[in-house]
Amino acid sequence: MVRSGMAFPSRFFPGAAVAVFAVAAAAAAPDRAPQASSAQSPARGALDRLSALSGEGKSAWTPEQLATMARLRDAAMKDPYAYNELRHLTENIGPRLSGSPQAQLAVEYVAAEMRTLGAEVTLEKARVPHWVRGEESAELIHWPGQAPGTTQKIVLTALGPSVATPAEGLTAEVVAVDDWKQFHALPPDAVKGKILLFNHKFDKELAAEGHGLEAYGDDVIYRALGAGAGAALGAVAVLVRSVGGADFRLPHTGQMEYSPDVARVPAAAVSAEDADLLSDLAAQGPVTLHLTLTPRTLPDAESDNVIADWPGTEHPEQVVVVSGHLDSWDLGTGAIDDGAGVVASMEAIHLLRELDIHPRRTIRVVAWMSEEEGSQGAAAYMADHANEMASHIAAIESDLGADHPTGIYYAGKAALGPWLQPLAQVLSAIGAETLTAAPETGADIEGLTEKAVPSFAPIQDSRFYFNYHHTAADTLDKVNPQHLNENAAVLAVLAYALADSPEPAPR
Ligand SMILES: [Zn+2]
Repeated sequence: MVRSGMAFPSRFFPGAAVAVFAVAAAAAAPDRAPQASSAQSPARGALDRLSALSGEGKSAWTPEQLATMARLRDAAMKDPYAYNELRHLTENIGPRLSGSPQAQLAVEYVAAEMRTLGAEVTLEKARVPHWVRGEESAELIHWPGQAPGTTQKIVLTALGPSVATPAEGLTAEVVAVDDWKQFHALPPDAVKGKILLFNHKFDKELAAEGHGLEAYGDDVIYRALGAGAGAALGAVAVLVRSVGGADFRLPHTGQMEYSPDVARVPAAAVSAEDADLLSDLAAQGPVTLHLTLTPRTLPDAESDNVIADWPGTEHPEQVVVVSGHLDSWDLGTGAIDDGAGVVASMEAIHLLRELDIHPRRTIRVVAWMSEEEGSQGAAAYMADHANEMASHIAAIESDLGADHPTGIYYAGKAALGPWLQPLAQVLSAIGAETLTAAPETGADIEGLTEKAVPSFAPIQDSRFYFNYHHTAADTLDKVNPQHLNENAAVLAVLAYALADSPEPAPR
């Protein structure tokens, strides 16, 4: 039910195709999830819930293991570690664009923090794109009803890896279409020598109902493929309406893809308000825009995925990946996308150390590099570990922000759902008990999913995420510390459960 009906690279999805399974549960998410009860003995509660399960099949975990999960959950809810780490990543280090000095400092920082906790840390090399944003500005210089001698500012931002306009900018008439249907109905030569605008509206109501990823999926193909489509018809530049829901005249950047066989033209996202302005005026008569973008694509850079292992006691060679991506776009500070996923993953090892828990299998925290610009870090991991797929027991990625999690997406065997049920009961104390099948769970672990490694992601409340995603407003204040802790609790409990079950998860 990808409603656009167009083939489209899944790497443009932050949480991959879970959109198509977006659950109504998110819409019903309480503003504040119930606090984990500290009054009731976690062990007693777990035993009660376990006995409630008898008759529905045997739990994969002992009552003692379920009690350990409850301890992890409760400790996560009280721990400031993840938020403090997020503060450092976002405020002290800042935006972490692939190839940038900040991205590399973040690699060294996360590695050092994980070493401090006693994890075995390795940096695994990856070649990543090194695109840098230059100046970006645009003004209307001619339009119907214009006061003589005036211009109007248009708010936009370059898409990665856009090429530049001439340094002095380019000037051309704007042709606006709402969607592919209007685009394909354009007369021949309609956009030749012109600036093409795709003004496809993000479905804010769909997002508000809890289906943020689905709304994103309907829209992002214009950002991803618009420049190639426009250039094929002779456009000199392509603009897309920002993919996202906020109404604060914020442009949302993101990745696009040039067609190999057509000219590369400058590509930018305009704020939703300015996309409407351009469309409305262009419907009245000729509109001319002066556009200046000066990004540069430098040679690919050497970077790293950070791999931090908490070694297993019985099967150290068997690993459970817990991950987020460390790179971010450059407009904001990458708090929700995806500093939150990285620090919630780091928290898993912090809790294991604090509580002195040593599961059978290795828990491997991975901070992926360059998810935003094509998941080159994940590709390098898949190449380096190609012969170890059988020993990858499971993989988890959190890359949909840090709002309240209602449960867990799982990709793989249908048997995973019932298998996870005892764990869902542990997570019900924080309102995260929903188990939902999905074809994929995260862009960076998609390769593992394809190799039949059971994979998982928290089901985050997606109602607000795309208001800030890829904008200058993706900053620390957008992360609620309690919700971040809930996400950390889901990751820690799930990682422990996968790493300590007597038998590996069904695959
Ligand atoms: Zn992301």
